[in-house]
Amino acid sequence: MRSIGHFIGGKEVKGTSGRTADVFEPMTGDVQAKVALASKAEVRAAVENARAAQPEWAATNPQRRARVMMKFVELVQRDYDKLAELLAREHGKTVPDAKGDIQRGLEVAEFACGIPHLMKGEYTEGAGPGIDIYSMRQPLGVVAGITPFNFPAMIPMWKFAPAIACGNAFILKPSERDPGVPMLLAELMMEAGLPAGILNVVNGDKEAVDAILDDPDIKAVGFVGSTPIAQYIYERAAQTGKRCQCFGGAKNHAIIMPDADMDQAVDALIGAGYGSAGERCMAVSVAVPVGKSTADRLMEKLIPRVESLKIGTSIDPSADYGPLVTREAVEKVKGYIDIGIKEGATLAVDGRGFKMQGYEKGFYLGGSLFDNVTKDMRIYKEEIFGPVLSVVRAHDYKEALALPSDHDYGNGVAIFTRDGDAARDFAAKVNVGMVGINVPIPVPIAYYTFGGWKKSGFGDLNQHGPDSVRFYTKTKTVTSRWPSGVKEGAEFSIPLMK
Ligand code: NAD
Repeated sequence: MRSIGHFIGGKEVKGTSGRTADVFEPMTGDVQAKVALASKAEVRAAVENARAAQPEWAATNPQRRARVMMKFVELVQRDYDKLAELLAREHGKTVPDAKGDIQRGLEVAEFACGIPHLMKGEYTEGAGPGIDIYSMRQPLGVVAGITPFNFPAMIPMWKFAPAIACGNAFILKPSERDPGVPMLLAELMMEAGLPAGILNVVNGDKEAVDAILDDPDIKAVGFVGSTPIAQYIYERAAQTGKRCQCFGGAKNHAIIMPDADMDQAVDALIGAGYGSAGERCMAVSVAVPVGKSTADRLMEKLIPRVESLKIGTSIDPSADYGPLVTREAVEKVKGYIDIGIKEGATLAVDGRGFKMQGYEKGFYLGGSLFDNVTKDMRIYKEEIFGPVLSVVRAHDYKEALALPSDHDYGNGVAIFTRDGDAARDFAAKVNVGMVGINVPIPVPIAYYTFGGWKKSGFGDLNQHGPDSVRFYTKTKTVTSRWPSGVKEGAEFSIPLMK
């Protein structure tokens, strides 16, 4: 049985807490590894390593830090297939989808290669008589990232690549469900030339998370996961004065206007609703057709597509999606389907009975589709995080716009239409952080920023793009006067710099 420890001080070390968790292979249902769960003392050992290594790394010029990132990008590309297969076997998603997980993270490492330019400060010559002002960005010191199971390559890279490029040392606490890829990424960073102690991986659960939140030497925490934990981390990190950004769950709507290209909209809904078994924070989980005839046309095309989804193993190249992450996840999603039926929604396609021949112990679930879902139902209000799409019929555009705007979550939203004016109005007015126009999963590219609103995001700066450099640095502003200031004697009123 493979055992996974921690990555501290530049190498993998065994866990010493005596506590471990099972890492499953979702496609077979077997336990494939045991991952160590860190104690407070083990987190502290990682922080001490990070603290000792960070000043020299921060003093390394930014071109050299960028070169480590460039080499890392090359090494991940070299090991793409190996990483993708490990990821698929631990998470459950298919290998092509695992490659997307790696790629969208790697693009943020590519963005971080521009750190010499990104960290430049501002300068104003002659802000007052003989006075110049400039600002500089300095790293925070030791920072941490706590990441979810559903993107075990992408989200760790979203966190550690900009943080490390900025000159910080990083403590990563990945999900205990799929820790293999984060450990390999740390190894690749070392191979790329990163000094020991700058990237540490502590595996663990709540105990390790709480140790991170309470550690006085950790200056910032970036979290991605479910909303209750995001809120908990935001509050507890603030109590110890940490800078904090916490991204939570989602309920992403897709509005289908009467003039939408229905075939395009259905393709988009199938991919965005059921890809990765619906275990994406940007998955579309609510479809909102506008008007009865749009809804009827949509259902007519959707039902056969959901019924014919091809569910396969994680390594089946022809599968649309693979198993869910755990048996509990399957049971939770099934529980929501039962709730939806009780609440009076119409279950148009029922995926609960799906069995994967030859893999009966695997965590599989067929695609389900609900029609006539209403705003007051739990299956509308709560995140299901599985291969289930709910159709909420709206009478008109105004009602469709209000649904995602009034929902507690505000991660992503999409509109399908051929009308530029409707699309423009929707993008301007909808109360959600990321908007797609005829694009179902509007995850912004690395040099823009990613972040949801309302219960999908706590904190004021987004992930990756320019916001990530702001989050992982503090700004120092210097006002200087050379060389005549002292000759004029003391000033008793505040300088006006007129
Ligand atoms: P989760 O909240 O269960 O776990 C996330 C992290 O928090 C893990 O590292 C876990 O070990 C830790 N954790 C879990 N319980 C904890 C506790 N009680 N105290 C302290 N730490 C704890 O989330 P998950 O199931 O791994 O991931 C799925 C969730 O993440 C979904 O809700 C999804 O929408 C969300 N997500 C959001 C985004 C985004 O950018 N908004 C991106 C990906 C996933």
